[in-house]
Amino acid sequence: MDSIAALAFGTVFVLGITVGSFLNVCILRIPAGESVVTVPSHCVSCGKRLHWFELIPVLSYLFLRGRCLGCKSRISAQYPLIEAANGVIWCVLFQHYGPEPDFLFACPLCSALLVMSVIDARTREIPPGINLFALVLGALRLLFHLSEWPQYAAGFFAVSVPLLLVLILSGGKGIGGGDVKLMAACGLFLGWKEILLAFFLSCLFGTAVHLPRMAIGKAGKGLALGPYLFAGVFFALMWGNSVINKLV
Ligand SMILES: [Zn+2]
Repeated sequence: MDSIAALAFGTVFVLGITVGSFLNVCILRIPAGESVVTVPSHCVSCGKRLHWFELIPVLSYLFLRGRCLGCKSRISAQYPLIEAANGVIWCVLFQHYGPEPDFLFACPLCSALLVMSVIDARTREIPPGINLFALVLGALRLLFHLSEWPQYAAGFFAVSVPLLLVLILSGGKGIGGGDVKLMAACGLFLGWKEILLAFFLSCLFGTAVHLPRMAIGKAGKGLALGPYLFAGVFFALMWGNSVINKLV
């Protein structure tokens, strides 16, 4: 890797972990219905307002040894993990897309899906605001791919309509309404082939992880699909094209 590429990846990583610390705020506050922008960052245990040096992504957690300066209570390892994960995801996307418009759309989509995954795993709810955000991203991205609009329009319906039928036929038990909307928004972003692949993979991942956990009694029958949908969408973003080209 030459020095310019190293600088580019370094910049993407720093931006990624910085946005990652905002994602932590979203994960914490969206389910509680709090504002993600107007309330200053504070310790969740003692409420102490955080200094700038307590807010440096990943590093602050390491320097503070995972404890609040004020009340010494433990800070969840989720904070540095989400920050680092977002930095790594953005670098992987940059490696894949390079400095193209699609990169600028894929980053916020994956970050939003990361937030959605953690919230869904915890609360079994996909926040409507995240689905709306993904939908707007898909619509804006479409402006750069206008000549291929039919495949993206078809993507909006390809998975969401069958899931909507499951939702209606099962009386709301088979799947969540949030999952249906998420698949519509991501379908508009990915196009019909990739969203079908993404959903198929999500089911595979979900089954592969959930069945063994159910067998050893660590998980109930219910399953938060969100994290698996994110995994499927991410795989389709990165490798969907090459997989589909090999199949057809
Ligand atoms: Zn504290």
